[in-house]
This record gives sequence, structure tokens and C-alpha cells, in this order.
Amino acid sequence: MELVREVGGGIYLIDTFMGGVQAFTAVYLVAGKKACMLVDAGPSTGVDNVLKGLRVLGVDLEDVKYVLLTHVHLDHAGGTGHLLERLPRAVALVREGMEAVLVDPSRLMDSARRALGPIFEMYGEMRLVSPERVTGVGEATLELGERMIRVIPTPGHSRSHLCALDLVTSTLFCGDSLGIFLADEGKVLPVTPPPDFDLVEQRATLEKLAATGFRRACFSHFGWTAHGTELVSMSLRALERMVEEVRRGMAKEMDPREIAEGIMRLLGVHTPYGEFMFRDMSLVSVKGIMRYLS
Ligand SMILES: [Zn+2]
Repeated sequence: MELVREVGGGIYLIDTFMGGVQAFTAVYLVAGKKACMLVDAGPSTGVDNVLKGLRVLGVDLEDVKYVLLTHVHLDHAGGTGHLLERLPRAVALVREGMEAVLVDPSRLMDSARRALGPIFEMYGEMRLVSPERVTGVGEATLELGERMIRVIPTPGHSRSHLCALDLVTSTLFCGDSLGIFLADEGKVLPVTPPPDFDLVEQRATLEKLAATGFRRACFSHFGWTAHGTELVSMSLRALERMVEEVRRGMAKEMDPREIAEGIMRLLGVHTPYGEFMFRDMSLVSVKGIMRYLS
């Protein structure tokens, strides 16, 4: 099991091993000379692995300045409270308007428990974050020693979604905005969960990301690629096909599970995560599109 991988240019991937699954959910470390940033906190159940990763990399916990949350889903932001207890100077950055969710995560936890059912255990309980350690951001530029990081609001997958672009290496931390990256297949699989997924916003987000001209993408799920903006057109093409299939399936009153299976066949996706992704992830995406369309 590989805990830490070097992306290059002072960027490192730490595997959270969420739910014991390796190479599925990543947290990134962006290291400047005097300050570091984490992109995402990972789930509560992955915090120990993130801390272990920082230790392996020789990071002084006092140097971590920001924990930038790409969005407030449990696999990305669930561990924030636990992590901040160990990072004495870090501030969590979240899309403005979402601060309260971290300060009092009880509603998010309730809805996640309902939506996720038995797999909720994979994510774990969130811990409260004190209000002075959360800052809301929109379009922003962060300074990290000699590095400049551009924060870009990217609603679509979730209303609270943010991406970060490291201007030094032209690396985009895309969270879930482009989908799940399947390195072995060279594909991206869009993820469109309820209740937030919005097709119009997602199209605008993809356009905005293409316009940045990024040259490398770091995916939360999972890994990185030197492919740049062609990933955007790949994601958009797959998304349009998914929406079309859901539209057709809804007209025929098909079972969402059947629609999900059809989409995976159509896109020719064979995931390394096996049943888990077929059964849960693709079905969640279908339900998000159904909700958007109805
Ligand atoms: Zn995710």
C-alpha cells in the first residue's frame, strides 16, 4: 500500500485509504518554502493516514497554513475538525456561505447517514470546527511562500465546489469537478450526485476550467495526469451521454439501476474499484441527473 506519492513540483499525493480502499480518495500537499497547503481533508476515517503521510514527508505541522476543501462532501471535508486539532495554525477554506456546515455538521451528517445507509461507516463522524478557524472564499489568490494558488468556484457536482490552480506548475486540483479519473483506462467518469448536481452550472464550470489552460490535473479520485484541458472535453462528452441516457431511461420508466448499468456499458468503463463503483457510484450519479431533470 503506497501512502505517499510524489507528483512533482513540490506537490504530493497522500492516500487516505478511505474504507480500506487504496488509490480511491486522495489528499494533496502543496509545499511552499515557508508554508504548506492541503487540498481536502479527506474523510474522518482517513485523518490518521493523512497525518502519517505528513510525517513521512517531513512536514512540520505548524507550517500547514490552509486546508482548502474542494467541497463539503464527507470524503473531502469529513476529517476537517479532526485534522485542524493537529494542525495548530491551519485555517479551513471553504466556499463562502458553507462555513456553518463545518461549525455545526449535524445536518450534513444526518442527510449523509440517510443517503449512504450502511456505507456511512466508511466515512465516519465529523468533529466541530470553531468558527474562527473557517474562512469562506470565492474567487481568490492564496499566497504560499513563493507559490501563488488561484481559487476558482466551480459549482456543478456540488454547489460548494472549488478548484485550485497552482500557477507555478499549472496544476489544477479539480476535486470532483471533472469526475473520477481512471488512470488505467485513460478515462474520466463524471460524478453527478443529488441533491446539488446542476447541468447548466456544470457546463459553465467545465468551460471556465478549460479557459484556465491548465497543464496537469490532480484528481481527488484518484491520481494525476499530465493531460490538460482535453480532460475537460472528455468529461463534457461523457456527461452529455450520461444525461441523454438518463433522459431516455426516464421516458421509458426504467429502473435507475438499469440506467446506471447501461451508462457504464456505453462509456465502456471497467473500474478498478469493481462492484462498489458499479453498484453505488454510478447509481448515485443517475439519481442526481434524474433529480435535476425532474
Ligand atoms: Zn468525492
